[in-house]
Amino acid sequence: MRNSITVARLVRHVEARRLRGQDDAGRRRPRVVVVGSGYAGLGVLRHLEARLPAGAAELVLVSPTDHLLYTSLLPQVATGDIEPRHLAVSVRGALRRTVPHLGHATAVDATRREITVVGMTGEPSTLAWDRLVLAPGALTRTFDIPGLAEHGLGMKNLAEAVYLRDHVLRQLEYADASDSDAERRARCTFVVVGAGYTGTELAAQMRRFTVEALGQFPRLDAAQIRWLLLDLAPRVLPELDERLGAGAAKVLRERGVEVRLETSVTEVRADAVTLTDGAVIPSHTLVWCAGVTPNPLMSRLGAETVKGRLVVDENFQVPGLDGVFALGDAAAVPDATKGGAPAGQTAQHAVRQGGAAGRNVAASLGYGRMRPYRHRDLGFVVDLGGADAVANPLGLPLSGPLAAAVTRGYHLLALSAAANRAYVGADWLLGAVARPRVVQLGFLPPPNATIAQVEQTELYGAP
Ligand SMILES: Cc1cc2nc3c(=O)[nH]c(=O)nc-3n(C[C@H](O)[C@H](O)[C@H](O)COP(=O)(O)OP(=O)(O)OC[C@H]3O[C@@H](n4cnc5c(N)ncnc54)[C@H](O)[C@@H]3O)c2cc1C
Repeated sequence: MRNSITVARLVRHVEARRLRGQDDAGRRRPRVVVVGSGYAGLGVLRHLEARLPAGAAELVLVSPTDHLLYTSLLPQVATGDIEPRHLAVSVRGALRRTVPHLGHATAVDATRREITVVGMTGEPSTLAWDRLVLAPGALTRTFDIPGLAEHGLGMKNLAEAVYLRDHVLRQLEYADASDSDAERRARCTFVVVGAGYTGTELAAQMRRFTVEALGQFPRLDAAQIRWLLLDLAPRVLPELDERLGAGAAKVLRERGVEVRLETSVTEVRADAVTLTDGAVIPSHTLVWCAGVTPNPLMSRLGAETVKGRLVVDENFQVPGLDGVFALGDAAAVPDATKGGAPAGQTAQHAVRQGGAAGRNVAASLGYGRMRPYRHRDLGFVVDLGGADAVANPLGLPLSGPLAAAVTRGYHLLALSAAANRAYVGADWLLGAVARPRVVQLGFLPPPNATIAQVEQTELYGAP
């Protein structure tokens, strides 16, 4: 009995020291603060937990979410093919020694080595660091288009994807209940801006979903369902291999999505969208997928940025800010395979950078040696729903069912937790045999659904 009390006291003592950031001898351990629980930030922490001996450093994660969001499959949350939680990899499940701190980092003081964190209650607090790793990703990039801020919907996080599904089903309900032909047509017209991978996947998959959902709206006609995909670029998937763009455009056309290239919007109203060519499209839905902008925190450090991305060297260190590292969408990491131009803002780069930056942060603490970042592009996969996809694994262009199989296999491998993998696999199997579930969840009523509110951009103040 006495022995067990002593052991319990010892465990409590060690735990209290761990939380105070002290080692067994009571010395202060260096504190590594990682900002962001995405592919990049979580990758750094996983690597540090694996590489650093226990007690070598105190690891802290600052992020507003308690999970890594597997964004690549987000359009399938909007279609209902995947349940939202199945794309959320739990931070507490993935990390053992890291102390999570839920909140937004809003300012960095590199001289005092502190960051300001606005926690869940909205109260700011400061957190000291010895090494700071910035990986807060990006936000939806919007422009000063009249009405976009009020009426545009985003597709960057789980709340936006769940909201969009509800919103689209609500439009079908309104259309079903209306006696006016014009009203029915407007409710059944959906506009997606941005023919990059997010917009292209979304338009292709949502068109398929809404047409299938009509099985439960017998008074609506498939001919009334219109999905428009707009982009200022002259082709679909402008950032990817031309062959992928051509393959995706073909599927979109066959599926009935109206693709309008070299076209964007000049005004968004609650019930209509005006296009740059002057056309007015009656519609109650505009989804904005026209790119991302680096987290505004990166422009607040007084260090160099390129298009809002914090400039780092090939080891992820920020020049002039001792002890600060940055990576992922928010950083301009030189891509050695492209003559040092900033690496693309893709999950593939963010994942690779997570491991590489973790190694270099450990090296800065005396464990191992720094190595510059090098990663050759392995290709891209674009899931268009059903048996359609386009992909170019290792540069080999694929389309149709083979591409769809490669795409899904790739996603299952890339999902970094076995439980999430199993749930997503089960969702796909069930989806292949079951009818679509046409139900709204009722989250987030309209006034709270603007891009700025969902992505909490007010935390960063005026640019
Ligand atoms: C819908 C969609 C589909 C995509 N599909 C693909 C695809 O198929 N293939 C591909 O390669 N890429 C894809 N991408 C791009 C890919 O998701 C990004 O390149 C990748 O997520 C970047 O990783 P990251 O870790 O830098 O940022 P993120 O994964 O965005 O993570 C950023 C993290 O920082 C947190 N954070 C934000 N602000 C703060 C703050 N102030 N303080 C603390 N933490 C903060 C966030 O909550 C999040 O945890 C897609 C993106 C989207 C939105």
